[in-house]
Amino acid sequence: DDLLRIARNMADTVFQMDLESVLRYSLKREVGSSKEITGEKLQALRKYLQVLEKYFPFGANGKALLRQLSQLAESSDLVEGARIAKLMQEAEKETSQVFSTPPKWLGCEGSSGQYRRYPCGLWKLFHYLTVNVADVEKPHRETNPRLALEAMHGYIKHFFGCADCSQHFQDMAARRQLDQVTSSDDAILWLWEAHNEVNKRLSGDDTEDPEFPKIQFPSEKQCPQCIKSDEWDNNEVLKYLKQIYSSVNVRYLGAD
Ligand code: FAD
Repeated sequence: DDLLRIARNMADTVFQMDLESVLRYSLKREVGSSKEITGEKLQALRKYLQVLEKYFPFGANGKALLRQLSQLAESSDLVEGARIAKLMQEAEKETSQVFSTPPKWLGCEGSSGQYRRYPCGLWKLFHYLTVNVADVEKPHRETNPRLALEAMHGYIKHFFGCADCSQHFQDMAARRQLDQVTSSDDAILWLWEAHNEVNKRLSGDDTEDPEFPKIQFPSEKQCPQCIKSDEWDNNEVLKYLKQIYSSVNVRYLGAD
């Protein structure tokens, strides 16, 4: 439809609709289908919810929901996924006024239903979170610079439904020494490079949407200053990522 046509011409844009669709699917389906969440898995859920509560672009009711979920995870040694799913179902009722967009995909919609969508949205969410941890926390040096990356790592390890992807990501995190990242700017660049490694591996794969080929991101067209004599200029890449994934640039196309 018209919105999708507009969104296609805004390839780098982060849309609130995609972020909200990711959140719904992640919490209702992936977390919500876990039976009993305890131990390391519960720690991962706590960290994920903490980061979401602080940085997900939501209004007052959405923030209240994330606070409630976070408190639920903090206050017990065992959380039932079904309880989270139930709270999400309630939150999705229009009267709750938590979500401002319909449960659809916009920037992450593929050329057909089997492509893109949730995994695309999940990448965008975590890029968004690495950038916003860096933006908001700059003056507060005591904040853990790996906050968003650790939340992502735990989420992907324990909840992401694609088992192969999860294993690949854990192997890559160990090989690329995620635990050695020492600044929030480096966390942004770590995720950018990691994502490009995945793009390279999946280029030409069956899962690639023919209308959205995997590239080493960003292309020269997207960011001419990011590449100098065939080499990345990391400072320019960092600037570019901070711009496109900044909270002030989230677009509310299709929102109420
Ligand atoms: P995606 O790769 O999903 O990217 C989404 C958007 O992010 C792009 O449209 C672009 O705007 C932006 N972007 C692209 N590259 C970068 C970058 N380097 N830095 C910043 N922004 C960027 N699929 C498999 O088949 N096998 C796997 O092993 C696998 N592992 C995965 C691991 C993780 C953690 C995740 C979240 C997904 C994984 N997937 C895997 C899914 C796969 O990476 C894609 O998400 C999916 O194929 C959809 O691709 P897409 O074209 O929508 O772009």
